[in-house]
Amino acid sequence: MSTLYPHLFQPIKLGHLELKNRVIMGSMHTNLEEASGGWERLRAYYLERVKGGVGLIVSGGVGPNKSAPNVQGGTLLTNAEHVKLHVPLTQAVHEAGGYICLQLLHTGRYAFGTHLVAPSAITAPINPIPPYELTGAEVKQQIIDFVRSAMLARDAGYDGVEVMGSEGYLINQFISRHTNHRTDEWGGSYENRIKFVVTIVKMIRKSVGPDFLIIYRLSMLDLIEGGSSFDEIVQLAVAIENAGANVINTGIGWHESRIPTIAGMVPRGAFSWVTEKLRTHVNLPLVATNRINTPEIAEEILARGDADLVSLARPFLADPEFLLKAEQGRSEDINTCIGCNQACLDHVFNLKVATCMVNPRACNETELNYLPATIKKRVAVVGAGPSGLACATIAARRGHQVTLFEAGDRIGGQFNLAMRIPGKQEFSETLRYFSREIERNGVELKLNHAVAAATLQSAGFDHVVVATGVRPKSPLIPGIENPKVMSYLDVLEGKPVGEKVVIIGAGGIGIDIAELLTHEKEDDSADNIERFMLKWGIDMNLAARGGIATAPKIGRQDRRVTLLQRKKTRIGTSLGRTTGWIHITTLEQRGVKMLGGVNYQKIDDNGLHAMINGVPHFFAADSLVVCAGQQSRNELADELKGNEVQVSLIGGALNTVHLDAKRAIDEGARLAAQL
Ligand code: FAD
Ligand code: NAP
Ligand code: SF4
Repeated sequence: MSTLYPHLFQPIKLGHLELKNRVIMGSMHTNLEEASGGWERLRAYYLERVKGGVGLIVSGGVGPNKSAPNVQGGTLLTNAEHVKLHVPLTQAVHEAGGYICLQLLHTGRYAFGTHLVAPSAITAPINPIPPYELTGAEVKQQIIDFVRSAMLARDAGYDGVEVMGSEGYLINQFISRHTNHRTDEWGGSYENRIKFVVTIVKMIRKSVGPDFLIIYRLSMLDLIEGGSSFDEIVQLAVAIENAGANVINTGIGWHESRIPTIAGMVPRGAFSWVTEKLRTHVNLPLVATNRINTPEIAEEILARGDADLVSLARPFLADPEFLLKAEQGRSEDINTCIGCNQACLDHVFNLKVATCMVNPRACNETELNYLPATIKKRVAVVGAGPSGLACATIAARRGHQVTLFEAGDRIGGQFNLAMRIPGKQEFSETLRYFSREIERNGVELKLNHAVAAATLQSAGFDHVVVATGVRPKSPLIPGIENPKVMSYLDVLEGKPVGEKVVIIGAGGIGIDIAELLTHEKEDDSADNIERFMLKWGIDMNLAARGGIATAPKIGRQDRRVTLLQRKKTRIGTSLGRTTGWIHITTLEQRGVKMLGGVNYQKIDDNGLHAMINGVPHFFAADSLVVCAGQQSRNELADELKGNEVQVSLIGGALNTVHLDAKRAIDEGARLAAQL
């Protein structure tokens, strides 16, 4: 057993299963389930995690009938044909020494399609299609469907099921009086509202026998108005225990809730206190969840006694060897999930296969492999931003002799700027990981080396990778040279900014700059759990229904900030689906004025003159910050043209179309895999 993390690596008996550690790999739908050839990829993806030390996996959500999924053609487990698809998965996991449970998920009024079902015909705020109210007979059929799927899961070799009772899905919709207005036996009193799920769990247990794990994911903090009270949650937990479940997992927040629960600005381990509150009320092992992304935070939660187990999901996308490295005392080598959601949840919501920004191999294990190089080359990588770091470290891991040149005095490129934005502190973990990878793989790092083409030519490299990134674009607005105008780089480097600020450009960086300029200096809510809860109006005494005590109290500074773009679309539409709303809510609360459809005319000593819908507007400003996009810094590649050395461009140096760190790291990794 690891002495560094004695609680984390303490074995535990769950039902009939003996787990070697206290970690469950939480359910994540990857869209591989629906992709062509996806099941083989899913098998490889799970297998790699089991080999990396995961003892128990909970699969992505699988529907008990065709009204369940929230994606077109979403995975179902309703017949023997479906069972056949799952068997190779469960076999692979077992052969590698792991266990796997199937998550049973019915999304109710969040479902895809036009025939949505729910306890009552109340439309969800995040799905415009009104649901149809199930009849009493149909409610009973839903229960039968859940039980049938659990039995089929057992036939497919699963070690158990997780009944998904949180995040605002069908079961939650029955439980909450907010979504259940029924007057029959399935509505009205709390006892009636929980009867749906209690019957499901009871009937599953009766049908599958004792040697089959039943995990129940219980919404312990709904984070919606009129959600469950704490007494009701206790009542439900006791009923679930009596119905035959073996474990209770924690669910935090409904999908329609407007409080962040897993994004990077949520403190690590922010919600384990919720799980702890339930501990004295039930005898079942409890699982804590949400933003547990390091072995240290997992160990802390377990050592404090907040829970018996922890569930980590995205951290296993970022690093399949998370547990192996922790057990070997190598937590510094872990590629940490930074809570960006850019390649996992945002992909899934955009119907793309999930992967991970910091680990592009995630869910691509069958096609993106870093095999030992057959011909060892001398490779120069120029630029230690995300693209160059990924390329240099993976190429060296494959056996190439790699020199990484960086003009600055540290690695990271624009990531050094990103991590100065409040709520993006986690980005520093990626740079810590890459520093270790540089050391571990023997990359020769040359800082303060703004390398020129002539140097590279004379050094005799076989391959030069130009990863020199971007420089800010300066728009052609008359008066742009005015001393009041500054670039986002000036702001991030600490140049003084006035009280009245106009930001030109409302892409990712413009929004980040608005966040930085309106952030209260004493706001440490990304690290401080109490302050985070206070800021978002969460009642840590759980006296308020749904856990919501007040409206969010996102403090504002005196600084007046106006954020502008030329497009007429709503500001923030370029941001990720799962995080964009948090940034926009925050800026709105802080009084940032956001305007689209702006035609910039000129800048003078007083501010910016513009036209909006043909009407002249003047924006008084002490400072104007330009966040108008980027241009590639690729002169080096031009200078190297016509030489014998092979040259490749990646990241911002290649082009700035849809450039972000996800694209940059992916390109670096894929090039390195082929060198
Ligand atoms: P860069 O990061 O620009 O790195 C290029 C490197 O090359 C630099 O270190 C530079 O010094 C070096 N270099 C240049 N010329 C030479 C030379 N001749 N010799 C040696 N070295 C040289 N992206 C996201 O995906 N999510 C976010 O949330 C996010 N937030 C951001 C917030 C801010 C404030 C900023 C500024 C950017 C953010 N980004 C974000 C964008 C992301 O950081 C960039 O897309 C990414 O860094 C581009 O990577 P790159 O490797 O192509 O280039
Ligand atoms: P961006 O997202 O492309 O935004 C550039 C902004 O500048 C847009 O608002 C654009 O809108 C405006 N603009 C472009 N050309 C202009 C011109 N000539 N004159 C005036 N305005 C102009 O780029 P970015 O904000 O620089 O961000 C760089 C990259 O980092 C992006 O690709 C982004 O994805 C990534 N990033 C991501 C996040 C994140 O949270 N995911 C955060 C920060 C950065 P109009 O053309 O409508 O004016
Ligand atoms: Fe974590 Fe971002 Fe990777 Fe998702 S994409 S697993 S949030 S690092």
